[in-house]
Amino acid sequence: MTATTKDLQNIDNAHHLHPFTVHHELRETGPRVITRGEGVYLWDSEGNRIIDGMAGLWCVQLGYGEQELVDAAADALKTLSYYNTFFQTTTPHAARLAQLIAEKTPDGLDQIMFGSSGSESNDTAIKLIWYYWNLKGKPEKKTIISRERAYHGSTVAGASLSGLPFMQGIFDLPLPRFHHVGPTPHYYEYGNPGETEKEFALRCAKAVEDKILELGPENVAAFVGEPVMGAGGLMLPPEGYWQEIEKICKKYDVLLWSDEVICGFGRTGEWFGCQAYGYTPDIMTMAKGISSGYQPLSAVAINREMADAIVNADSEMAHGYTYSGHPVVCAVALRNIEMIEELGLVGARGEEISAYFQKKLAALDDHPLVGQTRGIGLLGGIELVKDKSTKERYQPEGEAGLICRRHCFENGVIMRAVGDTMFLCPPLVISKDEIDELFDLVRKSLDLSHKELSA
Ligand code: PMP
Repeated sequence: MTATTKDLQNIDNAHHLHPFTVHHELRETGPRVITRGEGVYLWDSEGNRIIDGMAGLWCVQLGYGEQELVDAAADALKTLSYYNTFFQTTTPHAARLAQLIAEKTPDGLDQIMFGSSGSESNDTAIKLIWYYWNLKGKPEKKTIISRERAYHGSTVAGASLSGLPFMQGIFDLPLPRFHHVGPTPHYYEYGNPGETEKEFALRCAKAVEDKILELGPENVAAFVGEPVMGAGGLMLPPEGYWQEIEKICKKYDVLLWSDEVICGFGRTGEWFGCQAYGYTPDIMTMAKGISSGYQPLSAVAINREMADAIVNADSEMAHGYTYSGHPVVCAVALRNIEMIEELGLVGARGEEISAYFQKKLAALDDHPLVGQTRGIGLLGGIELVKDKSTKERYQPEGEAGLICRRHCFENGVIMRAVGDTMFLCPPLVISKDEIDELFDLVRKSLDLSHKELSA
């Protein structure tokens, strides 16, 4: 006998703690049960078909149920279900994947270390940065500067790195050595009246420089940023921002770290977000799209200078995980990256689909509930407002986002809400017809939300 939705909700409620959840609320309603996925669609346990406008959690580049990835996993499982990369050992898939990633990263970032999640890769990056400065004889260079509203994961270090107080206070975080700088580089919200986008970019970058000077450049190890800020509100960098940041990091000998966990592997149209915005980091972290979420995988890439210091060190780099370079996970990621390339998802097809998606997104600007749309590649943000000209929001803030999210679910489309910003991040394999369907449902959900909010 197959379990009913209610059965599954009951056992889930009895035993399962969920990420980022108010549990007593969830236990009143019970979770939705997702049972199947194919292409850009999901099905729930009641048989409803849902178009996934969020690629899972920003990760399913190739969509659900791609047979080639299933085969890659099955073949690898049959051949070598597990082995580690400790003790002077490698596996064919881990070695080849490191090589393939090194080909895609900007020139010079060609040394790769594997982990299983974005948070884990960020922890690794922090340790490699601290280790590097120790090896360089600058052990005081340990402070890491991040940005207000950044999201860098939820391990102890990831949450410390993030600039979201609601993730920190309840756990007595952030740890020392982690500093956050504002304004968040998001012109729509933080630009001053009369200030151009360029001027705003310079002001944001100047705030980073001021923070470095306040902390003392001799103490600052790295500056970290997402090319496009994701979970904190889908915020695109103002024009010229990254070029200015790159200059400042060079000037003060601060490592520039690009957190590519969302932006990597074609999301912005290039292999990595730093390439889309024209800057070259010293260190990159990546996850999600690296394996289209079919297997848990993350990686860190470091540049030659960091690699030289680490490779030539006499001390053991005493860091790594049981699943660093897991052969099955690496086999799936290899095929995934090859397919992103073969399908032209970074390339002609990607460009065409992104342009179509961005055109449909921009067409929502005329909607009475929409204050702004913004996006790059297959990323889109929609700002919900009460008054388009003054940008005034509905009160309490965040309510409009939740109402819209509910209408989306009820109408068979997944958009995520953070505050009153709605996010879109569909699988890269989405077709034009599916984009039409997606935006028809998004518009319908906006109409219903507007009606409810105006009542
Ligand atoms: N960095 C960024 C930019 C992210 O968006 C995320 C997850 N959304 C992470 C790190 C953490 O990744 P994970 O959830 O796999 O630990």
